[in-house]
Amino acid sequence: MATPPRHVVVCGAGVVGASTAYFLARRGVAVTLVERSGVACAASGKSGGFLALDWCDDSALGPLARASFALHAELARELKTDYGYRGMDTFMLAARERGRLGGGHRVTPPSWLDGDGVVHAALGTSETTAQVHPARFTQALVDGARAHGATLRIGVVEDVLVSGGVRVDGAELSADAVVVAMGPWTGRFSKALGLPRVRGLKGYSVTLVGAKVPAHALFVDYRTADGRALEPEIFPRPDGDVYVCGMADPAPLPDRPEDVTVNDDACGVLARAAGRVSTSLAAARIDRRQACYRPVTDDNLPLLGRIPGTRGAYVATGHGPWGMLNAPASGLALSELIVDGRATSVDLRLFDPARR
Ligand SMILES: Cc1cc2nc3c(=O)[nH]c(=O)nc-3n(C[C@H](O)[C@H](O)[C@H](O)COP(=O)(O)OP(=O)(O)OC[C@H]3O[C@@H](n4cnc5c(N)ncnc54)[C@H](O)[C@@H]3O)c2cc1C
Repeated sequence: MATPPRHVVVCGAGVVGASTAYFLARRGVAVTLVERSGVACAASGKSGGFLALDWCDDSALGPLARASFALHAELARELKTDYGYRGMDTFMLAARERGRLGGGHRVTPPSWLDGDGVVHAALGTSETTAQVHPARFTQALVDGARAHGATLRIGVVEDVLVSGGVRVDGAELSADAVVVAMGPWTGRFSKALGLPRVRGLKGYSVTLVGAKVPAHALFVDYRTADGRALEPEIFPRPDGDVYVCGMADPAPLPDRPEDVTVNDDACGVLARAAGRVSTSLAAARIDRRQACYRPVTDDNLPLLGRIPGTRGAYVATGHGPWGMLNAPASGLALSELIVDGRATSVDLRLFDPARR
């Protein structure tokens, strides 16, 4: 068996890099986590943080998602930090920006859904759907990794070196293994590393304050007054914020997370949609307007595993709309692959970066 690496550089402190760093550090590996801007500065700080046990069951992601949902519960105990992990009941609604849909509720609606929405179905219970605060969860993983000896370094990864290690801010940082987990920015390295294409898909979100509502996640089939079909997602958080996301935008990925622009109109549409399903949400005010890019691959499956042709190099990205859910099992499996030479907790073959 090959000697386990002593020092691993993990590139990118989003949730996927943070999780990989955590599980590697927990195994006793010396980890340097290199991040260009800040922990959870991109999608991992601005996502919904919604988790579901079985919503990926009809795709190749099913076993990864189930393993990760279970790991989330374990991590919430192990990390000893309150990052808003809790189970939620989840509902599907339909609503229109103007007017009220006919037909009435198909399941008994929670009393706070007192707007013009129609509740169509219960999609999950607090046993099968849950949430984390995405930025706090990512930070908790980084803190956990540091408690096991990992180092966080702010710097820009410029190159993955065939000799081992990376170039950061013009200087070589050597390592026995490198994990590329730079979310959609991994796409900037795809060609040089011979990886399948990774793109960024932009989405908007707002957080609302001033509404006191229970732990119910909502998925809304919504039409704007001008006929656009949207699917806003609404997640009340334990800290009192209500997170709403759902507008996609084909805008290209900028070079730096801090250059991501926010469209106030899109954010306004999301807040109005939330206000249509609940008078509490209609009275709430927008606190934050945000945008971020989820990392996507052409076959909608993550890239998890060895980078072919570059010794000691691994990639972990392309988690699309389920990066918060699937980061723990991805990080654990990758740590096994790197340390033991084989992932045993989940089968990574379907996510092999060598696929075409
Ligand atoms: C609006 C929206 C809502 C979402 N809701 C959910 C949800 O409810 N549940 C769920 O499971 N998932 C959700 N997702 C998806 C999830 O947020 C992403 O899949 C996940 O955050 C991706 O994490 P990542 O670590 O791969 O990438 P990122 O979070 O993008 O992190 C990549 C990191 O790499 C750093 N980096 C980039 N280039 C360099 C470089 N050259 N050198 C050093 N560092 C670099 C960046 O600064 C960044 O911090 C949502 C996504 C969006 C956009």
